[in-house]
Amino acid sequence: AAAAVGSSVIPIVNKLQDIFSQLGSSSTIDLPQVAVVGSQSSGKSSVLEALVGRDFLPRGSDICTRRPLVLQLVHQPRRPADAEADEWGEFLHLPGRRFYDFREIRREIQAETDREAGGNKGVSDKQIRLKIYSPNVLNITLVDLPGITKVPVGDQPTDIEARIRTMILSYIKHKTCIILAVSPANADLSNSDALQIARNADPDGSRTIGVITKLDIMDRGTDARNFLLGNVIPLRLGYVGVVNRSQQDIKSDLSIKEALAREESFFRNHPAYNGLAQYCGIPQLAKKLNQILVQHIKTVLPGLKSRISSQLTATAKELSFYGDPVESKAGQGAKLLNILAKYCEAFSSMVEGKNEDISTI
Ligand code: GDP
Ligand code: MG
Repeated sequence: AAAAVGSSVIPIVNKLQDIFSQLGSSSTIDLPQVAVVGSQSSGKSSVLEALVGRDFLPRGSDICTRRPLVLQLVHQPRRPADAEADEWGEFLHLPGRRFYDFREIRREIQAETDREAGGNKGVSDKQIRLKIYSPNVLNITLVDLPGITKVPVGDQPTDIEARIRTMILSYIKHKTCIILAVSPANADLSNSDALQIARNADPDGSRTIGVITKLDIMDRGTDARNFLLGNVIPLRLGYVGVVNRSQQDIKSDLSIKEALAREESFFRNHPAYNGLAQYCGIPQLAKKLNQILVQHIKTVLPGLKSRISSQLTATAKELSFYGDPVESKAGQGAKLLNILAKYCEAFSSMVEGKNEDISTI
């Protein structure tokens, strides 16, 4: 995946999580959820897709996302012998069925949306839960939400706007949720629904990233430079401007890879975004998210370390009580805990920047 979320911390956190899962331990690193909010057709699904690096979400100029999609990315080891089978999706409502073709995942999301919310633009707050297994992802949960709409269409109730706002808030009110507030650059940015609802849930802006889409179709002669710099509506975590695929690109099957290359050249050649490289592009957004995740891990690590060492003491005690060299469950547990304790040690010095390499453990 070209711009997979968290590419640089992936190996470490995944190793940690692998050990945790072998241990059956409840101590683990709970990575924050990431939710996208904004008005309808602002480009939310497009941003998520680009971050994951695969085509699988329904996107379009009409209302496409009509139920919350909880997307759990699950890391798994690479299988060199059978690379094709490395990545697949599995829906909670279709247990045991693996989708290797990501276009089929999209079709199933659409079909399952219709089953619950009807075929006529209805919206439902019942989740669709999809797990994506891949060697290229970090164990993180992304939530794609229906966009804010003002005027009811099709089967939508008259209070559709209030209902969708309540639904969005129920996700982003959690203090651990990172909010990607998506605003299209071809509408009035200072009136952004996304920034408004994000501010409701996160008044001091400590967990909101502003994402500005559609920079390629802004009114001629205008640009979003001041906005990206935070001169209009300041945000503590700042803004990233992106260029996703247009409806025409979707029709002509432009790949994510091609779209990323085109985005890169758009920013490189546009005079207004000259010198703003760190504010521009999907890879920058992935990097920003990554930094936030590392920060989060730093914060939770001390608690995790002390939980592990007390668990280690308790298990060692239990082990000495049995007092034999047989590979008992307790013995294996102690071994794993020991490895974990070492990992945490090395990991914390790594995030503190003291040691770049923990692959030797
Ligand atoms: P959502 O409703 O917020 O999830 O928005 P979608 O991701 O479904 O996108 C809505 C429409 O806008 C689709 O037709 C996309 O192709 C188009 N779109 C999204 N982002 C961009 C962008 O950066 N530039 C252009 N030109 N079109 C975009
Ligand atoms: Mg959408």
